[in-house]
Amino acid sequence: MQRRQFVGSGLALAATWPLRGFTAVLKGVGDAPAKSLAGGETVLPGSAIEALAASLRGEVLLAGSQDYDRTRRIWNASFDKKPALIARCTGASDVQQAVAFASEHQLLTSVRAGGHSYSGKSSCDGGLMIDLQPMQGVQVDPETKRAYLQAGSLLGQLDHECAAFKLATTAGTVSHTGAAGLTLGGGLGRLGRRFGLACDNAASFDVVTADGRFLRANDKENPDLYWGLRGGGGNFGVVTSIEYRLHDMDPVILGGSIVWPLAQARDVLRYYRDIAGDAPMSSTWPRSCTRGQMAQRLKSKCAGPEITPKARRGSRNCVLSVNRRVTASRPCPMWPYSPAGMSCLRPANTTI
Ligand SMILES: Cc1cc2nc3c(=O)[nH]c(=O)nc-3n(C[C@H](O)[C@H](O)[C@H](O)COP(=O)(O)OP(=O)(O)OC[C@H]3O[C@@H](n4cnc5c(N)ncnc54)[C@H](O)[C@@H]3O)c2cc1C
Repeated sequence: MQRRQFVGSGLALAATWPLRGFTAVLKGVGDAPAKSLAGGETVLPGSAIEALAASLRGEVLLAGSQDYDRTRRIWNASFDKKPALIARCTGASDVQQAVAFASEHQLLTSVRAGGHSYSGKSSCDGGLMIDLQPMQGVQVDPETKRAYLQAGSLLGQLDHECAAFKLATTAGTVSHTGAAGLTLGGGLGRLGRRFGLACDNAASFDVVTADGRFLRANDKENPDLYWGLRGGGGNFGVVTSIEYRLHDMDPVILGGSIVWPLAQARDVLRYYRDIAGDAPMSSTWPRSCTRGQMAQRLKSKCAGPEITPKARRGSRNCVLSVNRRVTASRPCPMWPYSPAGMSCLRPANTTI
């Protein structure tokens, strides 16, 4: 079938989808061209796509379906990939069906949680995208200090539920990053010096492996898989839920950023080196040297009287910023970590 015909038939069937309970039933789907795992061309029978859709509680989206474009897009817009079909999974059972379908048809497959993959790995051209976004939910057990997270959940949702019990675990810095992708890749965050990486706090994973099995991986069950999942990315199967260890944490923290023109980098980095070694484990100080648009934005904030004409000339379009995140509960003011300590270096802008 030509791509144009395929898109046309997709459009037609989108308009005629009857609803059966919660499940959208696909009917009259034509055969669809697709990419195989080996990179070759293959054809998916329309009847097989219909059978997949009927087996899911979630829905199957084809090019032309409402929501197809919105769902296939990921954070890094330079990847504009068009999967042959998207399985929007609502739970582990849907994931198993989708994996079985991919395996039976030897189909190129990608897995998408929060969609923040820099390298565009959560989407694919011509294959099956297993979309976990409908699987969002976090449950906290304050007694055992554990959080149970469905694999499509975002970091903001994890933090929000934990903060209600004055609990937390290490996550990343942006609330709409996916917890699953971040944790499977390691997961650096502001609580990292105190509690370790996100993957260090993952006590257990539920996983659907490529052969369709549903496994639990923790230090007792499937320990090798558990080891691999903590940093090995999405290479071992589709994770459907994660159990995290939580820690006591007052949600009120001291944090913010301090920005200097690049011309002051030598003094600032020397100071940073001198104090960072003895800094309390409750504080995290990521630093970055920024050029381009971000630097322009920071520089426009920096246009105050503190910035000397000489420093401004020297900075060109670069700035150096240190993000101070003192994550202890209401830490006592401490020199030299205090804004006053840092201000001896004449920062151009602070947001603490
Ligand atoms: C704005 C932004 C801020 C970031 N900040 C941080 C940060 O502070 N700390 C940090 O450590 N990283 C950070 N990252 C990197 C981020 O953690 C990784 O890109 C991570 O892979 C994103 O996960 P995701 O679920 O959002 O992405 P996705 O694009 O959905 O997935 C990323 C990868 O993980 C795989 N994957 C996702 N979910 C599953 C699953 N359930 N089972 C199997 N495989 C899966 C995907 O197939 C893909 O290969 C940031 C990225 C962005 C874009």
